[in-house]
Amino acid sequence: MSEILINSTKFKNNLDVIAQHIGDKNKLALVIKDNAYGHGLQEIATLGCAYGIKNVFVKNEAEALKVIHLFEHITVLYGQVCSTSPRNIHASINSMEGIQLLEPSRCVELKVNTGMNRNGIPREKLQEFIEKILLRKLTLLGVFTHNGYGDTTDESFQDAQKIFSEVKEEVIYLSKKLSFKLPRFHSLSSSGALRSEKIEDDLVRIGIAAYGYLGNIFDIPLSKKLSPVASLWADKICEQSLKKGTKIGYGGKTLLQKDMIISTYDVGYGDGLFRINGNKAPVKTAEGYTILPVTSMDCFSCEGSNQRVCVFDDARSIAQIFDTIPYEVLTNLSPFIKRSVI
Ligand SMILES: *Cc1c(COP(=O)(O)O)cnc(C)c1O
Repeated sequence: MSEILINSTKFKNNLDVIAQHIGDKNKLALVIKDNAYGHGLQEIATLGCAYGIKNVFVKNEAEALKVIHLFEHITVLYGQVCSTSPRNIHASINSMEGIQLLEPSRCVELKVNTGMNRNGIPREKLQEFIEKILLRKLTLLGVFTHNGYGDTTDESFQDAQKIFSEVKEEVIYLSKKLSFKLPRFHSLSSSGALRSEKIEDDLVRIGIAAYGYLGNIFDIPLSKKLSPVASLWADKICEQSLKKGTKIGYGGKTLLQKDMIISTYDVGYGDGLFRINGNKAPVKTAEGYTILPVTSMDCFSCEGSNQRVCVFDDARSIAQIFDTIPYEVLTNLSPFIKRSVI
């Protein structure tokens, strides 16, 4: 059966590189949303916990519930948190409705828009939201933003950081005025954290860098020290010796130019590997075998007779061919593929 191997040494090495750059391991929060970027939520959460990670960010409550026993603080980025959920699960607040639905004494993290204009409350409404949070007897654990310009070379990244530092000042002022405990502040994801010389915040939210990648628009020297953690492996279903002129797959898109040994393997687009239709650059396995178009829902064919082939051990090559980013290649991987930590 196909398998995703999770290299624990590389994962640990990536966390070491990041922690060393930040200068304080306790500031390193791990983003394990979307099945830990396709790596397997349980597997990555277990490794993160063993490393000493205390704070994580997940997509929704269902993900949070799977890792409650492993972390001190689990913040749900999207959707509601149920009143019966354990207390170490925190909601992100993006709207007034988000506050209304929570029962008293739960921790929340307030998200503020600092220029990405995707979600988060307007900074002008900071006081109004904090007052409402206090009125509802919720605990303001954090105030955060998402700097959407980590991979951008113009001044937008600094502009967003400047807005967030003003937000911080206002929160500090309000905490004295309304007497509530100062929340934790965080604004940076991988690229923003790794391009910043000094981290002023209490936490950084690291996703893609922990898995071994960084956006490649902006050349950050540290990115060379990171290594991809996941590799996707496919196992042979059968092997055939085929003559020149034989057609393979739906519509016979591949026409053999010579006699060849062709094997078929158990990964297809139903497993999250993009469908290879022959209209783009060839996709090769890590061993260098061309994956023959068109691929099927559950399998692909390529030359050779290996029992097992490595579909990729670095998501960048497939991402480039499909004009996307490693994030998409990785999060696409089906949760049904077995993950094994090595
Ligand atoms: C996904 C996400 C991150 C992590 O981003 P990376 O680029 O993978 O490090 C951080 N913060 C928020 C709010 C996110 O949604």
